[in-house]
Amino acid sequence: MDAKGAVARINLEAVRHNLNVAKRLAPQAKAIAVVKANAYGHGALSVAAALPEADMFAVARFEEAQQLRAGGICQPILLLEGFFNRGQLEQAATQNFHICIHHLAQLETLERTPLTAPVTVWVKLDSGMHRVGFRPEQVEGVFARLARLPQVIQPVNAMTHFARADEPDQNAVTQAQIAQFTQLTQGRVKATALCNSAGVLAFPEAHCDFIRPGIMLYGITPFGDQQGTDFGLRPAMTFTSSLIAVREHKAGEPVGYAGSWVSPRDTRIGVIAVGYGDGYPRTAPAGTPVLINGRKVPLAGRVSMDMATVDLGPEATDKVGDEVILWGEGLAAEEVARHVGTIAYELVTRMTARPHLEYI
Ligand SMILES: *Cc1c(COP(=O)(O)O)cnc(C)c1O
Repeated sequence: MDAKGAVARINLEAVRHNLNVAKRLAPQAKAIAVVKANAYGHGALSVAAALPEADMFAVARFEEAQQLRAGGICQPILLLEGFFNRGQLEQAATQNFHICIHHLAQLETLERTPLTAPVTVWVKLDSGMHRVGFRPEQVEGVFARLARLPQVIQPVNAMTHFARADEPDQNAVTQAQIAQFTQLTQGRVKATALCNSAGVLAFPEAHCDFIRPGIMLYGITPFGDQQGTDFGLRPAMTFTSSLIAVREHKAGEPVGYAGSWVSPRDTRIGVIAVGYGDGYPRTAPAGTPVLINGRKVPLAGRVSMDMATVDLGPEATDKVGDEVILWGEGLAAEEVARHVGTIAYELVTRMTARPHLEYI
């Protein structure tokens, strides 16, 4: 027997391939590789270091940008929600962090803060997402105020974010966002950026100057009913563990906490060394597939902190130590996410610190 705990194998070659897919789809645009939230769980520094072809990187938090700089990443880094306080603004300028400005509070701070080096600004416009960004009626005034600031590189850039580009039957919503953004920015900014992965894949007319692919870099599609391989993407993370027990199980016996699953037949139950302590979702219901020895096997019983159980079937020949793929190569994270009732973004991003990341 040779069992192992949970390991996430990260294929950096796949990430590089996926960035190239994005670049081929948008040949006129530069690529801002989105590596926020530890590169969606894949390890921000390792991913960024593997992408010399990325023109820029984007993160959501100042600390994430600092980590990349400290690790030797040289490309400009866009702070997607800008700076959260004046100290971050002062440091952004010296570290070549591009700042997004989405709120008047940020504009006021910028106006009051002299900087040792001028800063690149991306004005975030609310074209319909209604989460962050300036409303259309504010935009004119924001551009005018920024144009007066010597600490800002002129002219500024503009960006917006799609709310529903991942929904094929909501194209009109995204088209309205594109039209709104174009009308507000045409002839008034240096560069524009609209597209998340869904935009890159489905809205070529909006590729503009910069694309911001995130999830697709990791081989996952934003479209709920498809998977990355449908677009020539390769899964970057293969989340694995192994069987630590194979048990004879009688018809009518329950498995695990609360006895929520009862076997309808005599069978063999496999116990996998993975649980919510590793980031495998506790909400994964019975029937969620895992891949063992090349076949899909359904979860049976509740996922606990350290273990999950599967119904291997009465004829199973699987042994202690056999590898289990929870998602990744051979079992799309999108498929698992559909069973769990979430999106694959969440599966890969909420890995805990326990499984180590193994780079290949
Ligand atoms: C996270 C994020 C992206 C990347 O989105 P994906 O759907 O992962 O491609 C792009 N732009 C902004 C503003 C984001 O916050």
